[in-house]
Amino acid sequence: MTPQQPLSYVHPSPNSPWGTYLMQVDRVVPYLGHLARWVETLKRPKRALIVDVPIELDNGSVAHFEGYRVQHNLSRGPGKGGVRFHPDVTLEEVMALSAWMSVKNAAVNLPYGGAKGGIRVDPKLLSIKELERMTRRYTSEIGIIIGPQQDIPAPDVNTNPQIMAWMMDTYSMNTGTTATGVVTGKPIHLGGSLGRVKATGRGVFVTGREAARRINLELEGARVAVQGFGNVGAAAAELFGQAGSRIVAAQDHTGTIHNELGFDMADLIAHVKATGGVGGFKGGDAIDGESFWDLPCDILIPAALEGQITAERARRLKARLVLEGANGPTVPSADDILAERGILVMPDVICNAGGVTVSYFEWVQDFSSFFWTEDEINLRLDKIMIGALRKIWDTADRHQITLRTATFAVACERILTAREERGLYP
Ligand code: NAD
Repeated sequence: MTPQQPLSYVHPSPNSPWGTYLMQVDRVVPYLGHLARWVETLKRPKRALIVDVPIELDNGSVAHFEGYRVQHNLSRGPGKGGVRFHPDVTLEEVMALSAWMSVKNAAVNLPYGGAKGGIRVDPKLLSIKELERMTRRYTSEIGIIIGPQQDIPAPDVNTNPQIMAWMMDTYSMNTGTTATGVVTGKPIHLGGSLGRVKATGRGVFVTGREAARRINLELEGARVAVQGFGNVGAAAAELFGQAGSRIVAAQDHTGTIHNELGFDMADLIAHVKATGGVGGFKGGDAIDGESFWDLPCDILIPAALEGQITAERARRLKARLVLEGANGPTVPSADDILAERGILVMPDVICNAGGVTVSYFEWVQDFSSFFWTEDEINLRLDKIMIGALRKIWDTADRHQITLRTATFAVACERILTAREERGLYP
């Protein structure tokens, strides 16, 4: 018997999310010093739960959905990470997303491990009552591993404060408590935090502003293209708009629009609210989806799904700065091409950490039952993001490595130090 049993998921395809993550870990090993002996810890999720989620549909039939909750690493604290409802969700994708949460939480020094969950479903095909039943049954099924001190879910793609409210209520009913701290991203009335809804977009803006300053890119008048106009993309675009940048292109699942002069952001946001997407917006021209990647712009914000910036698209991009609002939008081969082309990439594991940072504030406020003002929250968020980025940038300069590898270096050192100090049980 070999001392280390190979796992079925150690050889994924390189462009898959888990394959991308494993390659990112391999790249950080030379910078881990003696901690490198623990690196295998990062390549295996600590715990993965697959659950069957049966619900009765409105027409009386029964449907089964597959749900997941993966706790990638719990060395530094309870699990923390969102829940995604999407037809492409797989165990392997959730593993990667949970691993990126471990790295992200450590990069901003939050006292959390990394976790993520999801259901393989197109929620747009469910009625509101079906969505509620599915959310509640999923919460009950993963109830054996979540909790305010164990693992704290939050919103991700296609999940929102209402879904968090149902999760909080279900967990509370099952445990006979009012467990506000079991999820974050809740409605304000249920112990949610001011500033949470826009926090991820705000973090994208704050890290983007720092990066722009360092590469002498004026935000006033800068052209911004955004893929994904949901929670993250719309909030980031709005803040860049307020800083004087022009949002010249937007793409989502309903279409791609372009306006060289910049959209009227209030009109675009109202259109998306009313229709569910950017498609059909009259304040810009509809263009085909693939030309989005050829558009001249200064800042590109991928804020939709993984694997969007492929090697082929990376060769065509015109941006000077890429801000990864989404998790895992750039595959490793594309990362190399962007670096060669001198296009700066602000990696997901720091760029979109604003959401989990305010989730942490929400969790702390729930425990103390003492709530902060939005100004306090935004100030603390900016301070944490800027401080974390400074350390990452110093690390990148010192080793002459990309911001992604530098973020992994800072984060993995923290995770593996905790691992080493705790020691191996038994
Ligand atoms: P959301 O559901 O609010 O929005 C998703 C957006 O992506 C929508 O505009 C949708 O139309 C678009 N989209 C979906 N499929 C697409 C496709 N094939 N092509 C183009 N656009 C497509 O989700 P969100 O919360 O904004 O999450 C977006 C990304 O940000 C995800 O990668 C998520 O993991 C990441 N993220 C979210 C948070 C958060 O707090 N919500 C935090 C960190 C990272």
